[in-house]
Amino acid sequence: MGVDVSEVDVNEMLGRASGKLLIGGDWVAPRAGGLFETVDPGTGLPVGMIAAGDETEIDTAVAAARDAFEAGHWRSLPGSERAKGLWRIADLIERHHNELTLLECVDQGQPPAYLGAMVTGSANCFRYYAGLADHIYGVATDVVAGGEPIHAYTRQEPIGVVGMIVPWNAPLLMAAWKVAPMLAAGCAGVLKPAEETSLTALRLGQLVIEAGVPAGVVNIVTGRGHIAGAALAAHPDVDKIAFTGSTDVGKQLVHAAEGNLKRLTLELGGKSPFIVLDDADLDTAIPAAAAAIFSNSGQVCSAGSRLLVDKRVADRVVEGVTAIARRTRPGYYTDPGADIGPLISGKQLDRVIGYVDAARAAGAEVTVGGGRTGDRGFFIEPTVLTAISPDATPAREEIFGPVVSILPFSDVDEVVALANDTDYGLSSSIWTGDAARGHAVARRLRAGRVGINVHSAGDYHLPTGGFKQSGWGREHGPNGLDPYLEEKSVFTKIR
Ligand code: NAD
Repeated sequence: MGVDVSEVDVNEMLGRASGKLLIGGDWVAPRAGGLFETVDPGTGLPVGMIAAGDETEIDTAVAAARDAFEAGHWRSLPGSERAKGLWRIADLIERHHNELTLLECVDQGQPPAYLGAMVTGSANCFRYYAGLADHIYGVATDVVAGGEPIHAYTRQEPIGVVGMIVPWNAPLLMAAWKVAPMLAAGCAGVLKPAEETSLTALRLGQLVIEAGVPAGVVNIVTGRGHIAGAALAAHPDVDKIAFTGSTDVGKQLVHAAEGNLKRLTLELGGKSPFIVLDDADLDTAIPAAAAAIFSNSGQVCSAGSRLLVDKRVADRVVEGVTAIARRTRPGYYTDPGADIGPLISGKQLDRVIGYVDAARAAGAEVTVGGGRTGDRGFFIEPTVLTAISPDATPAREEIFGPVVSILPFSDVDEVVALANDTDYGLSSSIWTGDAARGHAVARRLRAGRVGINVHSAGDYHLPTGGFKQSGWGREHGPNGLDPYLEEKSVFTKIR
């Protein structure tokens, strides 16, 4: 779908939702917290004002979600009726594709083709979960207890009030990945978007209302992570938190959940290996390796940030990826020649540059990039690091920028050890001309997702989640509603 990148007036596009919170079906002004600026990362200039929700507003929003849940207007609907609601949301997202893409561009900064595809993906995610809404089954069996025959069955019931906390790297899509299953399961909830990128979440709130979802089922509280996010995570009347974000914050949420032992799903960070074996088709593998780290300016949880290359082909891969980095052009979203956008913020830019400086200090070679670019905004050059130790911090920690560490290896045992030598375990890929070899390595990788001659092809059709410190639990796939349901066993004497 083409996108008309004309003038963006955020206030006009958001109308009543501008600078407001969605609580109990109404757009309300923030009280104590006031407003904060949201910045276009391509210019560094403010484009709108966002409500800074605080503990009080989280409390009110959770109460609204609880009331809506108990009222049962949504959860008591047959699954097929909830499915219709999800389809209506999907249709509305598609109808407003251009506008949502523009809001995303001005807030997140990547080119419209990239972010537009995410808007389409968000609509499709609602449709996928519409399909699951009508497929919520228990099991039935006969048992004998105390010598008496008993019929038993299980019920899958919505878990209750869900807190959904999402990051800035794919704002609408990450919100869709939480709101769609939450609605399909019959829950009610509070969405807390990232403070850097709240605009499309607010627009989504309007579309959810337009689609006829009852008031209070979806509430949206914008605001700072350590205030609004932390209050939601610790709230005693929230039954479950669905979180996507950094591993550090994920660990804080584990503690925050202690009070009422709320359920948690955590989709966290990664330092994913992209493994090129000696028999790989380099004409395919090299551009794929570049795309795996440079798209979205490297702000992708599954980014192939460790490029592990057989020594026999390492020179060609370094040369090829360096050449692509050199011609990958960062630019403003209205620039049709821009391949990638800026980083999300000045803070993130400083962080990424800090890792490149640390790599240099540790003796790494920067074959291309490494610096800030552009006369405004938060742009950075695509960057390739070689001659870096696998133990150096930039080769171990998640950078979340377009910076790849290329590490050579001699044989398959060595690369498996290297690939698994990380606290993370989110994604990975193997590039080889021998399918059996690819499958053999796939079994040995400790990651929630493995690609063979493809990197990060995952979406909501299959389970998503991480081994080790990349997360807790799985979202999506045919069992994608499980984290939003509680299972109850019911026993009855049959005579
Ligand atoms: P972040 O953890 O800083 O923030 C994520 C969300 O948590 C934001 O809404 C933020 O406001 C909120 N938050 C921050 N502090 C909080 C606190 N103390 N209590 C509750 N909420 C709090 O992450 P980010 O920088 O926005 O996003 C980048 C991270 O997200 C990366 O680590 C990336 O790998 C990860 N990510 C993971 C996946 C996945 O599927 N595994 C997908 C996308 C991004």
